[in-house]
Amino acid sequence: MAQNIQGDASGQTPVAASAADDKIRCDACPVMCYIKPGNTGACDRYANRAGELIRVDPHVILDRTLEQGGKVVPFDRGGDWDGRLVADGGTFVTAVGSGTTYPDYKPAPFIVSAEVNGVDMVTVVTEGIFSYAGVKVKIDTDRFLGPEQATVRVAGEPVGHVTTSEYGSQMLSLGGVHHLTGGAKKEGRVTCEALLDLCNAKPVELTVDDGATLIVQAGHAPIVNGGQEERMRVGCGSATIGMFARQWFGKVDEVVVVDDHITGVLSEHQAGKLLGVRDTGIRMKGRRSTPGRYFQVAEPGLGWGGTNISDPLSILGAFDAKAAWPGLRLLLVSTTGEHFGYYVLDENLVPREADIPQDLAPSVERIRENCEPALSSVLFMAGAGGSLRAGVTENPVRLTRSVKEAITRVTCGGAPVYVWPGGGITFMVDVMRVPENAFGYVPTPALVAPIEFTLTLEAYAALGGHMDHVQPVGDILHRDSVREVAPIGDNPWPLSTRSQG
Ligand code: SF4
Repeated sequence: MAQNIQGDASGQTPVAASAADDKIRCDACPVMCYIKPGNTGACDRYANRAGELIRVDPHVILDRTLEQGGKVVPFDRGGDWDGRLVADGGTFVTAVGSGTTYPDYKPAPFIVSAEVNGVDMVTVVTEGIFSYAGVKVKIDTDRFLGPEQATVRVAGEPVGHVTTSEYGSQMLSLGGVHHLTGGAKKEGRVTCEALLDLCNAKPVELTVDDGATLIVQAGHAPIVNGGQEERMRVGCGSATIGMFARQWFGKVDEVVVVDDHITGVLSEHQAGKLLGVRDTGIRMKGRRSTPGRYFQVAEPGLGWGGTNISDPLSILGAFDAKAAWPGLRLLLVSTTGEHFGYYVLDENLVPREADIPQDLAPSVERIRENCEPALSSVLFMAGAGGSLRAGVTENPVRLTRSVKEAITRVTCGGAPVYVWPGGGITFMVDVMRVPENAFGYVPTPALVAPIEFTLTLEAYAALGGHMDHVQPVGDILHRDSVREVAPIGDNPWPLSTRSQG
């Protein structure tokens, strides 16, 4: 029997075309699944419930009264909706669970109006399908994860690469259109799965060619080669000298802070010079950059300070007999304080390990104390500058301009996003600021992510918006498939009428 599901009365959009044998056809993405009664489509987002095409997950609404410890606001808001706008702007309709429209010239699933501080606002809400999507992963560790540009794999499939190291962190760039669509089918499927799990803050095992095996989970400490990372470094070796030189002065004659990037040497460093630290005749391996700062003292690795060394004396040459003296006290320490050794030069100016003096040990502890907890951070990055803009306005470029001019605010599940300068609407969002399980996928393959565009009703009309599809927020709250949740953490309120952040 042919069926023709047109969405519910409140305007929820996914629509289904007709099909035979009680199957209904979902047209919310290019896959166009035929779905049997009681079954879900290929993405598990839509289902056939007794002949009706439904979005399986609840539609997430943010409610500020929950944040303030208030009661869950009843869906009916005290009776029949009278057509007026909600006055306090305390409810925000996110795109999580809202559904998708396809093709994009159809208006977005929900275009919601609300009155905020006397201003009529509109939020255009959709679950966007992003083929141009990936994640940037920041892993707080000094350990060597693999060479820059090395391929990162999941289940043997290439899903991204190692990119530039940042201050105390290693960075990965995963996903993107080339891995999703440009390789073999399996590569695209595995990439999509990995991105989905990372975005939904689930753990994913990654292997780096000629590098480490990692378990990365947003908001959790990374696990590198089976070992859980505890703390990120306090700074590079030179910065560590700058921070702690005064605490070492008088308690030890020389300090070397071992670091894969910039190893610091107290007596040569400007910090030591200003304190009047005596020349010690130390000779370092590696390339001297500026006084007291050495590059490439060893190879990158999983040892001291992100180098491959386990014996710190291996980065020292023989002491200069003209400057060094027997009894010279030497502290070698890594940038996390995780590794340290205390040595005293013997009669032949050879370092001999000794117990660290009691008055010096707290400085190593202080380095550790200043190291922040190591985390894995995942930023979802995608381009909304394409066709989904047509679900907002009949003239898509106007939306791009409006975003760039900060007339339209972009959020992802109510979370603030960073919109890149230049063309298009390329945005990044911290997945930890987005409601849980907000991300989905379709098997094209592509990621599904919530996206909302908020602007004044007046600006929306000027944009060429789909004004005949604007509905008051109360209509959304009446539906039985919504779930009201408190705003997340310190996210700015997306309906704030202050200047765009
Ligand atoms: S993959 Fe999902 S969204 Fe796409 S047609 Fe199938 S059920 Fe609908």
